[in-house]
Amino acid sequence: MREEQGSGMASLVPANGGGALAWHRWVPYAAVAWSLGYAALGIYWIVGGRGFPYTAKTASDVMAPLLARFGPGVAWIVVIMAGIPAAGMGAAMLRGVRNRAFRPLFTSAGVLLAGVLLLLMTGLGLLVLVGYIPFAVLGRFPAGKAQEYLQGWTDWGTIHQLLCLLGGFIWLGATVCYGRLSAGACPYCGRRDGPEGWQSPNRAARWGRIAVYVSMVAPVLYAFTRYAWALGFPLGMTEEHWHSGQQKGLWISGLFLATFGLVGAAVTLGLVQRWGEVFPRWMIGLARRRVPIALAVVPASLVSVLVAVGGIVIWSSLPQMIARGRAAKDIDVVGAVVVGVGPTLLFPVWGVALAVATLAYYYRRRKPCSVCGRGASTEVGKPSSGYQKRQPDDKEQRPQPDAYVSQ
Ligand SMILES: [Zn+2]
Repeated sequence: MREEQGSGMASLVPANGGGALAWHRWVPYAAVAWSLGYAALGIYWIVGGRGFPYTAKTASDVMAPLLARFGPGVAWIVVIMAGIPAAGMGAAMLRGVRNRAFRPLFTSAGVLLAGVLLLLMTGLGLLVLVGYIPFAVLGRFPAGKAQEYLQGWTDWGTIHQLLCLLGGFIWLGATVCYGRLSAGACPYCGRRDGPEGWQSPNRAARWGRIAVYVSMVAPVLYAFTRYAWALGFPLGMTEEHWHSGQQKGLWISGLFLATFGLVGAAVTLGLVQRWGEVFPRWMIGLARRRVPIALAVVPASLVSVLVAVGGIVIWSSLPQMIARGRAAKDIDVVGAVVVGVGPTLLFPVWGVALAVATLAYYYRRRKPCSVCGRGASTEVGKPSSGYQKRQPDDKEQRPQPDAYVSQ
């Protein structure tokens, strides 16, 4: 799927930028359209339509989006604000309303809306569904569970969360566009006159590397505990608890989740390594072609949000989990919190570090702008001294767009 995505995306993007991924052209309209669509959904719920996602039932669900825990009153306010008022603001942003009073107001409201959509209106359930993809693809679910898993994806609650995830990214993009335009920066690349500072490729390579290593801590710790369980060490739990877990097959599914996380951590390394820029030789057909920036940025952004949300939801459910553990007699509460839940409490760090690493990758690899011409004087995209031979400005060495299309 990744390869398809890669060639598909690359064929849309000429090597010198522009084209369909000139997202600054369509994203502000998409934000208005998204909010109008959400307003229609809100009106449907107001007149008694079914499927309002923040009911008393979801408030007690530990997997549900956090917004549900604030109660239906707050949820209604947020749902209504994300509709018509947000669409109106989006329209004003499109018209370029940018005087002193409106600029900070619109920018902060846009960031707030994107943050609420991404972090409070999506839940832990999405991360769990994504985490079990390899398990499902390899057919490891028993028949009944497989059905349940598929239903999880088609459940209205999940679809609504995906809608919010999409809206969050669209609103983030629209706010970035507005911020660029109103600050007099290039709408296409966001660069301004003067030195690039922390956004320069060399500086981004440095802080990006740190972010990548930080992002690997949580999945590695998580894998360590789950591997211990799968290997038969009842780390952080009583023997009986471990045996009952084994009968349910918990340690095998945990092993899958942990391995998926580890593979993800290994792939994250690509954000600072050469194979994250040029496909390695063994990838026949793609070998030595340039990795499209979006191929790394799109999945990494999605994962960083899902992981961060998962972690935040787990943090907020911690008191509930501890209380439940205390009530059940056969659970070693301290062990369960430290070993069982502990690594997942680092998920917000994982999410933030991955987002930072992704941003660094983008700054490091983006080319001189084809619209404003800025960025041409700085050295582009070289994270380390290890592979200085390929000069990014040397068009001869770059695969041309046609080469991608032919894939
Ligand atoms: Zn530019």
